[in-house]
Amino acid sequence: MNVELTMTIDGGPSRGSEQFAVENPATGKAFAKAPDCTREELDQAVAAARRAAPAWAVRPIHERRQMLGALAGALAENVDELMRLLTMEQGKPHGDAQADILGGAHWLAETAKLDLPEHVSEDSDERLAVTRHLPIGVVAAIVPWNFPVLLAMFKVAPALLAGNTLVLKPAPTTPLTTLRVGELFRSVLPAGVLNVISGSDRLGPWLTSHEGVDKVSFTGSTETGRKVMASAAPTLKRLTLELGGNDAAIVLPDVNVEEVAEQLFWAAFRNTGQICIATKRMYVHKDVYEPLKEALVAYAKSVKVGDGAEQGTQIGPLQNRAQYQRVLELIDDARENGYQFLVGGESAKVPGYFVPITILDNPPEDARIVREEQFGPVLPLMQFDSVEDVISRANATEYGLGASVWSGDVDQAQTIGRMLQAGTVWINESQHLSPLASFGGHKQSGIGIEGGQEGLLEFTIPQTMFVRRRAAQS
Ligand code: NAD
Repeated sequence: MNVELTMTIDGGPSRGSEQFAVENPATGKAFAKAPDCTREELDQAVAAARRAAPAWAVRPIHERRQMLGALAGALAENVDELMRLLTMEQGKPHGDAQADILGGAHWLAETAKLDLPEHVSEDSDERLAVTRHLPIGVVAAIVPWNFPVLLAMFKVAPALLAGNTLVLKPAPTTPLTTLRVGELFRSVLPAGVLNVISGSDRLGPWLTSHEGVDKVSFTGSTETGRKVMASAAPTLKRLTLELGGNDAAIVLPDVNVEEVAEQLFWAAFRNTGQICIATKRMYVHKDVYEPLKEALVAYAKSVKVGDGAEQGTQIGPLQNRAQYQRVLELIDDARENGYQFLVGGESAKVPGYFVPITILDNPPEDARIVREEQFGPVLPLMQFDSVEDVISRANATEYGLGASVWSGDVDQAQTIGRMLQAGTVWINESQHLSPLASFGGHKQSGIGIEGGQEGLLEFTIPQTMFVRRRAAQS
């Protein structure tokens, strides 16, 4: 396939003077090239965003809102083309690719309904005191490879609504769909308001340390998040960091095993387990451990793993070679330590980055697969017998992104949920997010919020104006 996509800089196409190869993870073979943005091209993108910033900032919010609606429309109208491209570079099944893109459209349309509040702290004969939320300026938006379109729109929608301009950078292994989205958005937005650049590993650090960038909105691993924070320090850039997770699911003895098994399976394995808020550790009460274990294994055996472009595929490959090797390393570690595999654990023996669905039977709490974020289709299933014990095990991690509690008693589940150190807790469901609700990590899962009013305000800077009503000399 001959895919030639361009960066969007200052409202126009940029082929880039250098290129890098993009692989299809279902084959492990390169199928396209993307521009490898040079420093000079990055400077052009940042300069274009800076030039566009003043006019965009003063544009009435209802006009920015309308444009977000038009961007949502552009994604929805082109969903088939974008879906095919996304599956090819990301690996996810077509249905999931479609959900990624339409999820992005939904995020744009719903974020457009938010408003920027004004707070009047004094309204007297003497003085009016009002705090407004102004745009910050140029935002660098950096996105990982698991949900390239949706996670980009988590940033694009509120940043634009708040009146900022952007330089958006997808991950090096999934640049294509985002480049195409940039092309489609050109006809909606004024030049320079949204610049889309792609590049190899060198580009992220250049962008986060660029003097022309006022804020970095970053989604990715905790390890990289620390580097981003350090590189933003010299110019004190504003930061939002959405980082890794090691979410626990806690399954209480009063669940209906038949009903929850399938949902619990997908909580862990959707998108091949490559979701920041996937269930990465499953704690099951000893009274239901055996039946739930059997139900999960039986369901796992019924799921079709394969090329996301093939009809009927439910789980695709891992997205890239580095992630594939990391997941295989965790499986090897489990095997070397003698942990029991209920299903999986062997090599897929096919081209591409496929790892069979793998479930481990009660590995110890200090196992790497329990302590580390696997970000792949490998789930440790563990037993507990007291609520106090499971809460302390669930909280014994540097991460604090999400958690879920599964129970017939919703009140008890909420009581447990309030004791979990996580930015989002789900009761009897998982992974649901809303453009109108706050989403963010506790502990080392992040700093700041995406979504809702709080997420919008992260793209603003407050300004308080005191207006004296009686002239000073009178
Ligand atoms: P990553 O940290 O390797 O890369 C993320 C992005 O950062 C990519 O665009 C990459 O090119 C860029 N990058 C890499 N090094 C950089 C540097 N030094 N400076 C600036 N940018 C740099 O993460 P990944 O492997 O692509 O994604 C998986 C991770 O993302 C997992 O840990 C997952 O939990 C996390 N994640 C978090 C959320 C969330 O909302 N909290 C959502 C999705 C994924």
